[in-house]
Amino acid sequence: MERFHYLIVGGGMTADAAVGGIRESDPNGSIGIIGTEAVAPYKRPPLTKGLWKGDPEETIWYWTESQGVTFHSGRTVRMLDPGSRQVVDDLGNIFGYDKLLLATGASPRRLPFGDGRVIYFRTFADYNRLRELAERGKRIAVIGAGFIGMEIAAALAMNDAEPVMFFPGEYPGNRLFPRSLGHYLNAYYAGKGVELFPSTSVTFIREEGSRVVLGTRNMKTGLVRSFTFDGVVAGIGVKPNVELGREAGLLTGNGIRVDEWLRTSIPDIYAAGDVADFFNPALGRRIRVEHEDNARKMGHAAGRSMAGAGEPYNYLPFFYSDLFEIGFEAVGLVDAALETVADWQEPNRKGIVYYLQDRRVRGVLLWNVWKQIGAARRLIADPGPFDAAHILHRLPEPKAA
Ligand code: NAP
Repeated sequence: MERFHYLIVGGGMTADAAVGGIRESDPNGSIGIIGTEAVAPYKRPPLTKGLWKGDPEETIWYWTESQGVTFHSGRTVRMLDPGSRQVVDDLGNIFGYDKLLLATGASPRRLPFGDGRVIYFRTFADYNRLRELAERGKRIAVIGAGFIGMEIAAALAMNDAEPVMFFPGEYPGNRLFPRSLGHYLNAYYAGKGVELFPSTSVTFIREEGSRVVLGTRNMKTGLVRSFTFDGVVAGIGVKPNVELGREAGLLTGNGIRVDEWLRTSIPDIYAAGDVADFFNPALGRRIRVEHEDNARKMGHAAGRSMAGAGEPYNYLPFFYSDLFEIGFEAVGLVDAALETVADWQEPNRKGIVYYLQDRRVRGVLLWNVWKQIGAARRLIADPGPFDAAHILHRLPEPKAA
């Protein structure tokens, strides 16, 4: 049995950041990482962004191994026994720990059909698979229009493939953006050569030689159609990987529940990243966040906490995306179901959307507006009261970081 002072389950962005956090105060303690993917930790955002714009592949790696870490890649932990402080992987190998971090992330939701022909886009292996398919002129179905769908469709179009989007909402990012901005996005994507089928569900996926046939149904008109593609990629959301922790008796909610030190309900077991359900003081509620900034900051904080040098994790993470020439950053509850107030410098091209609830700002969307995340965070922490008539022009604020 191998034993580590710090054992990290999961080999993604959170795991790498945790190693950095540990090493800040413990240069020598043994660290082990067990990860399902065959490769060491890498940056996930370039898989849908930079790598499609010509960034070299070597820029994605974190080189975690240079920090004195033992890697067990291509292995999945199946059992956690907090009593004996051991985990067991899928090959039956046993590993002991003094401190354990669950950085198990999230797994793609899947359709009930099309297995083997649908790329549920999440990993470097998925990127490589899609890249091989997506030559010039290839028709690729993109199912879902959340972060993956929006970014991958743009990436494919920019590489002269022919993406066709199918999604249940009225417009891409329908859970994020106000309606008018969403409808602008429909036209914007169409203008970039992306065919869009909003309000559409996929009813079957069938192989036909080397091609794939997709059945669809318009949820408003009932119109049934079928299409033939060279490939299918899907981003229909993810589920946090809580099972290992839950079966070991950890308290779960919308993820594995942690306190401000990122400790779970069982001593010496921590959780961070996509899988962790944590309290954010500025929002006054528990949240779970599936974006890079949280993975990195929370992983780092968990590493420090495990090494005995932690501070409470009170951070409100931001997220960002690139959609052709439009880029946005956002912070807080960017939820289209809230009241929204748009403050455009240039309609739908440059401006700020505020998300209000109970006379407070709960989220801010910075649409082609930069360097305002710090100011947006302060606004979210501000008890207000704010209302639609008085929120306009609160940002930009000079020199906001
Ligand atoms: P997502 O952003 O939650 O979007 C899921 C999309 O799939 C939505 O458009 C949803 O529509 C649609 N959908 C749900 N069920 C469907 C079905 N049965 N058929 C067709 N469409 C369906 O999730 P994602 O795009 O898969 O991304 C996965 C994770 O990676 C997310 O956590 C995301 O935050 C993260 N990610 C982040 C970034 C970034 O921060 N820039 C980039 C890439 C990925 P409805 O909303 O109408 O249900």
